[in-house]
Amino acid sequence: KQKMSSNKKMTYSIIIGLVLGIIIGSIFNLYYDMSFVQIVDQYIFTVVGQIFLNLIFMMVVPVVFVSIVLGVVNVGDPKKLGSIGIKTIVMYLITTAVAISIAMTVANILDPGVGKGDLLNSSEVSEYRETTFGGETNVENINASTQTFDQTLISIIPKNIIEAMSTTNMLQIIAFSVFIGIAMIALKDKIPTVIRLFEEAEKVIMLIVMSIMKYFAAIGAFGLVATAFTQAGFGAIKSLGMYFLCVLLALLIHFCLVYGSMVKFLAKKSFIWFVKGFAPAMTVAFSTSSSNAVLPISLDSAQKNLKIRESISSFVQPLGATINMDGTAIMQGVATVFIAQLSGIDLTLMQMITVVVIASIASIGTAGVPGVGLIMLAMVLTTIGLDPAAIGIIIGIDRLLDMTRTLVNVTGDAAVALVIDHQEDLKEGKKITATR
Ligand code: ASP
Repeated sequence: KQKMSSNKKMTYSIIIGLVLGIIIGSIFNLYYDMSFVQIVDQYIFTVVGQIFLNLIFMMVVPVVFVSIVLGVVNVGDPKKLGSIGIKTIVMYLITTAVAISIAMTVANILDPGVGKGDLLNSSEVSEYRETTFGGETNVENINASTQTFDQTLISIIPKNIIEAMSTTNMLQIIAFSVFIGIAMIALKDKIPTVIRLFEEAEKVIMLIVMSIMKYFAAIGAFGLVATAFTQAGFGAIKSLGMYFLCVLLALLIHFCLVYGSMVKFLAKKSFIWFVKGFAPAMTVAFSTSSSNAVLPISLDSAQKNLKIRESISSFVQPLGATINMDGTAIMQGVATVFIAQLSGIDLTLMQMITVVVIASIASIGTAGVPGVGLIMLAMVLTTIGLDPAAIGIIIGIDRLLDMTRTLVNVTGDAAVALVIDHQEDLKEGKKITATR
């Protein structure tokens, strides 16, 4: 008999945790008035869930910093790094644009918002207008609530690295780590101790990550999902069922079709193998709804199970956790069509193209933390003249969609990393044959 690998065991136990969390959370949601339910939710589900979230979040900055520095040092050539960087960004942009197009096509076929116009008069809309935009949805208020593209560009370079780390500002941490890595390449032979320090620090950090996963992920994932379902529940879906379904369907199509073909045709690997190998990261993404939080596990799954070079994975995935959000873009695409339909507006082709462009930018600006994708949606809606306060309608069920779209977000990063890694294989293979 073959013994089950510890990775498999871990994945299965997290999946069991997730399923139990969904079932128990959904049941609890039905009895939410009972104080027993609220107490269990507050003192058990939330506590275990948040401890798990803190544990992995605690590791994000150290993992990203150390592994990007090492990744850059391993690439060994700033020019090569630049070309990997450009390739990565181009692939991220293309997959995101495809994601939004799939989303808008699905929404235009299934018409989730047709005939539901009175949702726009619901109290959620005025509440959202009040709380998010201070009562008035004018341009200044909307800009204040989201970060514009130029601000994002400027803020890539950190003013203060401690602040960048203390706020988990991923782009800034990446920029700083790349600088350190490049300087270390320049000094390579003179600083063997510093390089070793990073290599050994990485071992220590990854041991903590793996222990958290091994001993705490299943129960932590259970806690997070149980709270989410206790508080949101399927009941919240009601009249928004079609919207909910459209997002899920578009996510599924994108996941299977786009990632499936990337893995199969561009990386020449089996998609099932890919899904199995990356499953630990997917389950944690689902339970935490945060691309940033899951980074330590995404890097580990990609490097150990999918055998992606550390030098590529450590650079491509943290970047992706911040700028590549296919799942978020899908939600934004469906939501835009949905809200246009509620308002009785038929989007023109030009408007749809605008949505693809703006939602791509919006998803780049979306931070990898829960719920931000919805805030960034305001930018997309205002650009094509829709009322951003309508976001209030979908906010209630967003927690559940956030889980699934975050799973897609991080899977997209891994798929791109796998493709780029395969291209490096080809290049190196060519070099080897050429020198023979
Ligand atoms: N929660 C998502 C993520 O971290 C972002 C979002 O769409 O809200 O990837």
